[in-house]
Amino acid sequence: MNNTEIIKELPKLDLHCHLSGSIRPETILEIVKKEGIPHYTDDLNEFKGHVQAHEECTSLKEYLERFQLTLSVMQKKEHLTRIAYELIEDLSKQNVYYIEIRFAPFFHLNEGLSFDEAVEAVLKGMEDGKRDFGVISNLILILMRHHSPEKSLEVVRQGRKFLGKGVVAIDLAGNEQDYPPELHKEAFQLAKEYGFHRTVHAGETGLPENILTSVNELHAERIGHGVHAYMNDEVYRFVKENRIPLELCVTSNIQTKAIDSYEEHPIKRYLEDGIIVTANTDNMTVSNTDLIEEYEKLVTKIDFSLDDLRRVILNGVEVSFASVEDKKYLRKLFNEKFNTLLK
Ligand SMILES: [Zn+2]
Repeated sequence: MNNTEIIKELPKLDLHCHLSGSIRPETILEIVKKEGIPHYTDDLNEFKGHVQAHEECTSLKEYLERFQLTLSVMQKKEHLTRIAYELIEDLSKQNVYYIEIRFAPFFHLNEGLSFDEAVEAVLKGMEDGKRDFGVISNLILILMRHHSPEKSLEVVRQGRKFLGKGVVAIDLAGNEQDYPPELHKEAFQLAKEYGFHRTVHAGETGLPENILTSVNELHAERIGHGVHAYMNDEVYRFVKENRIPLELCVTSNIQTKAIDSYEEHPIKRYLEDGIIVTANTDNMTVSNTDLIEEYEKLVTKIDFSLDDLRRVILNGVEVSFASVEDKKYLRKLFNEKFNTLLK
């Protein structure tokens, strides 16, 4: 087998994937037509250009604009279930065995769904997907930086009943420039008391010091992106010494202009320096990528060996928010597959 074939066969997992950024373009188009939502074109190829980020994308802000249309098709139970189910189906074709899907419940209540209905609908799609395709998944509830601290507390309070039923963690996402993490400190404190795992988007658009605040004040166990840790020596040492796992998303970082090119991405440097890095997609549709593509890029553009890939994948198993039993299962399965594929 050549590297491309091996990469395709490798057992995979994704710890940083937004549901709203990972909907099949065909499905978005079908739902906008069905629901009478204004859209640019009925031509699928042309339509894809409106839901995927381009090379010319200039910032995180522009990248995030792609989500307006995708959120409009995620306002009904049947659509949320279908979207989650299809994502699991797509993952199964890439030999993905585990995924943590994240979504912000408050973005899906515009047309009358309750918080519980939105979460239940996504969980149903994930459960059906596990039944049909064998992919294990867990759900992360996102708190939005620009929402009020009270609203964040609401996600934690209302989300609590789903702990042990598919929800494992909370996350903080959105505009990092204008809303520092400490605004949502109270919600993260409560989440910790309730038994949620915690991850926080930080150090994605500069501001590496947000990584420190997220760990020290928000009790983050992992950092979403954290790609800019290298910009501040103190932060970098902290991440390294405290073994804080980073959920890196290489293609997304380039599209949002966090990093100029694949070749300049620090993931390999981090790995060699002993930082706990994982490789993830962020948004499969908006970034027009999947895990096969991401692993390919690591090997062809960032000089990863297949053994580097193995280390990054196994890091993912260890720092995932999966249950003890699921981790044990994944560890065994992945090692068996590695032994056959990487002899
Ligand atoms: Zn993200």
